[in-house]
Amino acid sequence: MTEFTKLGLSASTLKAVAETGYTEATPIQEQAIPVALAGRDVLGIAQTGTGKTAAFTLPMVDRLASGFAKARMPRALVLAPTRELADQVAESFAKYAKGTKLSWALLIGGVSMGDQVSALDKGVDVLIATPGRLLDLFDRGKMLLTGVQIMVVDEADRMLDMGFIPDIERIFKLTPPRRQTLFFSATMPPEITRLTTQFLKDPTRIEVARPATTADTITQYVAPIGSADPKAKRTALRMLIERSDVKNGIVFCNRKSEVDIVAKSLNVHGFDAAPIHGDLDQSLRMKTLSDFRSGELKILVASDVAARGLDIPDVSHVFNYDVPHTADDYVHRIGRTGRAGRTGEAFMILTPADDRSYDKVLKLIKKTPETLDLELDVSELKSTPRQKEDRKRTRRDNRPRPIADPAVLRCHRGRGPGGSGGQPATAGRCHRRHRRSPGSLAPFAGTWWAHDGFARKPRTNPRPGRSRTRQEPRPQPGAHTRHG
Ligand code: ADP
Ligand code: MG
Repeated sequence: MTEFTKLGLSASTLKAVAETGYTEATPIQEQAIPVALAGRDVLGIAQTGTGKTAAFTLPMVDRLASGFAKARMPRALVLAPTRELADQVAESFAKYAKGTKLSWALLIGGVSMGDQVSALDKGVDVLIATPGRLLDLFDRGKMLLTGVQIMVVDEADRMLDMGFIPDIERIFKLTPPRRQTLFFSATMPPEITRLTTQFLKDPTRIEVARPATTADTITQYVAPIGSADPKAKRTALRMLIERSDVKNGIVFCNRKSEVDIVAKSLNVHGFDAAPIHGDLDQSLRMKTLSDFRSGELKILVASDVAARGLDIPDVSHVFNYDVPHTADDYVHRIGRTGRAGRTGEAFMILTPADDRSYDKVLKLIKKTPETLDLELDVSELKSTPRQKEDRKRTRRDNRPRPIADPAVLRCHRGRGPGGSGGQPATAGRCHRRHRRSPGSLAPFAGTWWAHDGFARKPRTNPRPGRSRTRQEPRPQPGAHTRHG
């Protein structure tokens, strides 16, 4: 690692860096700062936690220091995919620009436009924004982007996930072509590559680790349990938290509804936990995050979008309550720990339903996490008083319902979690097994039918001890990436 003093930064910026306590630049900072200071485009490919924020903020502060802002004509633009990420960049900016007269404004959705508009009217040097709110204000005529000298795109692959690429493209076209572009992404899918070839001018490509690899500072574990029952999973989660010395940890769930349930359940069992996801009020999310950052809150239960890229220093543990549907998300999740050279532990609960998703993770990370045996007796956990209620519902409501188990969601209609690729239904694998209503086909009454039209062996009580109808909604394909 190189010291910051050797990178060509100005004295006042170096002073601000020293005040944060950093002495040595991270690899992405070491390579990107001199290039950016020289006014050249940067294409930075780096995982979260590698220090990208300072890599683009520090040279930006230095390059902007000499000019001044005109009303409604920002000189630099930083685009981040989520409000929280934009807020974090703004915080860093405030720190690093302390010794300068630079002004900045945060343009994010979910808060009133009034202050943002009046800041724009006064004139700000740097806009830190989410693409939606920026274009919203632009379309209302609140700013011109023709004065933009530096444009930063942070977490571009996340923008892609969230459907922001057309917005980014439009913003690129609204800024002058002679601008400097600093572009960062953890992975380089084809759509992102296309964007960079179109809008970056002979960029210096800086890659600090192979895309989508997990850091060696993280010890990874999986805990297989014999059931996909939510109760068994919650018990397993508590066991995992209890057995590790958790200073602060993040629990990841695939769905927002699950985030709430898991957080509540942890609270009931005496754990200090709070949920964070896209449906929660913005101010509540900010409060939860700041509590977590300050150490007041020990466990954050989160969805992928809510947590992506959040600057939460020194997380000791990551718990995957669910195996993520996309392997990339696994890398991002566990990237919350083991950051900036520190060590961390990541755990994942594996159920029989997770085979396919887990295979994808293994293929991507090219490592085999250690296996933990929790000695969880799942048979004991199954019978709950709720089942009585469920049986009542069985009688009332005989409509076929989807089976919650993601492994059986692959049906011949191809509406599995991936959203495409129809698979022929095989016995017991189709998510829509029907029971003929008694009497409609007398000889087959009580027979289970699969979608391929063949009757299965009659089973009067197909799953003893387990409710057939109390099932959860199927995860909407892609929903977790859009709404957090
Ligand atoms: P990224 O945007 O790549 O995910 P961040 O810029 O959010 O990474 O930085 C990740 C963490 O590392 C933050 O907690 C930040 O304060 C810390 N950090 C950044 N640069 C340095 C450095 N040079 N030395 C020590 N810690 C750093
Ligand atoms: Mg970042």
